[in-house]
Amino acid sequence: MSGQRLKIRLARQTLWVCVALLSFSFAETYARTIEDVDDPGVMLERVRRIVEEIRAASYPEIKGVPIEVKLFDSSSDYFQTRFTGASFLFRKNLRYTLRVNRKLFARGAPEEAVRAIIAHELAHIVYFESRRRLRLLCLVRLASKDFTVRFERSTDLQAIANGYAEGLKSYRQWLYRQVTVKKLEEKKRNYFSPEEIDAILLRLREEPDLLRLWRKTPPRSLQEVGRNAKGKLQ
Ligand SMILES: [Zn+2]
Repeated sequence: MSGQRLKIRLARQTLWVCVALLSFSFAETYARTIEDVDDPGVMLERVRRIVEEIRAASYPEIKGVPIEVKLFDSSSDYFQTRFTGASFLFRKNLRYTLRVNRKLFARGAPEEAVRAIIAHELAHIVYFESRRRLRLLCLVRLASKDFTVRFERSTDLQAIANGYAEGLKSYRQWLYRQVTVKKLEEKKRNYFSPEEIDAILLRLREEPDLLRLWRKTPPRSLQEVGRNAKGKLQ
């Protein structure tokens, strides 16, 4: 073999080794990313950190309230917040569980959206903390479709009042792409859509006092967002 041919062969072999090493390292990085978003420990840690940041920034009234973050599986729901039955029955102070769908990050929920929906979940805890147990018991027993709409939309309003409107819009846009047509209808009925949130922001800029009224009786449609305090269309 001539010196020239040997050089070409060596160069080719070196090139192949480099390509192999590069693709190996890419595959490893990619695998680690996929593994990380699915890893329960990593995920719980990430959600806990966000919960504590949002609580410190926006909900000082529930400072120190025990909130345990857990994972759950569902094809349509991504967050659930409840007080624990044991703390309701046996403890002076309530304890809470914030459950998060284990596919949340794997399905690409944006960080800003997750922060906003956690602000919504923490607003539920603020509500539970401000009610007497007997009322909470009635709340659990009497929960109806109608009540759910009022309860969830009023909670959305609290998150909006705390500055999470844009994130909440982003969460709903993401959520609408994850659920079936039937579930989408339910989500749109129970919570504010991005269009409704935009209309709410506009109305509140003109009439900030509406917020207090809406927290008691939240608008159920774009049309209702347009009504003034006396129920008349603007
Ligand atoms: Zn809620």
